[in-house]
Amino acid sequence: MSAIDSLPPLREVINSHGLTARKSLGQNFLLDLNLTAKIARNLGDLGGCDVLEIGPGPGGLTRGLLAEGARRVLAIEKDSRCIPALEQIAAAYPGRLTVIEGDALETDPLAHLQKPIRIAANLPYNIGTELLVRWLTPPDWPPFWESLTLMFQREVAERIVAKPGSKAFGRLAILAQWRAEAEIVMSLPAEAFTPPPKVKSAVVHLTALPAPRFEADAKTLERVVARAFNQRRKMLRAALKGLAPDIEDRLIASGIQPTDRAETVDLERFCALARSVAAG
Ligand code: SAM
Repeated sequence: MSAIDSLPPLREVINSHGLTARKSLGQNFLLDLNLTAKIARNLGDLGGCDVLEIGPGPGGLTRGLLAEGARRVLAIEKDSRCIPALEQIAAAYPGRLTVIEGDALETDPLAHLQKPIRIAANLPYNIGTELLVRWLTPPDWPPFWESLTLMFQREVAERIVAKPGSKAFGRLAILAQWRAEAEIVMSLPAEAFTPPPKVKSAVVHLTALPAPRFEADAKTLERVVARAFNQRRKMLRAALKGLAPDIEDRLIASGIQPTDRAETVDLERFCALARSVAAG
């Protein structure tokens, strides 16, 4: 493994700081700095950018982001045991790394960042999807970030880039593709992580579009697709019954057959339905 900086190898960092992986925090660490630098390169030219990193752990990806030239990295980590290791990285890159100990779901990063901002994370599955949905559904667009480069289990990554008609198509595909360009840019075997998880992983890169592909209110669209796919085997007239008394008429006016199932309906028609529901 070649060095990307003058800091100790990550295995040594893990040992000296006693960072035994905790399952409760979804800790599967990336210890190969060549790999973390490769992931960081997916963020593009970082020279003039701030990067928000969620869940840096022992700092493998953080070091990749800094070595790839990020103007500044703000790293939010919940596990207090990782903070001294991250502070060592901050000392090696003076003025370029700020570490916050906290829960990313409850921490507002914006006070510490300047645009343009890109986001990178290798997070536990449930937090990763919750943050992704939050980042994709602010009321106004474009958002505070330019791009998201996120590690997910492979199956979740496939859901984000899925097309209508496939089993993986659902809420995540609609919300991601409505306002962003989403692609899988890397696949990683379980053995890339320490300890190895049970499943394969993939990195998804999402670039914010200047404007959503179709007009819709974010909260309404989220509500409509959550209901539609919650009961994905049901016909939409049944799955969406509680949404409006005249839901069949609204479906037809949106170009959707009331007997259609959610996974056959494309983004444009879901947005039309969300506009109809929002209109009251
Ligand atoms: N980025 C590191 C890497 O690639 O080796 C660590 C990845 S590990 C899969 C997930 C990291 O997210 C852990 O360091 C864990 O402590 C942290 N984490 C888990 N939940 C978090 C939360 N709610 N807020 C911030 N960090 C969290």
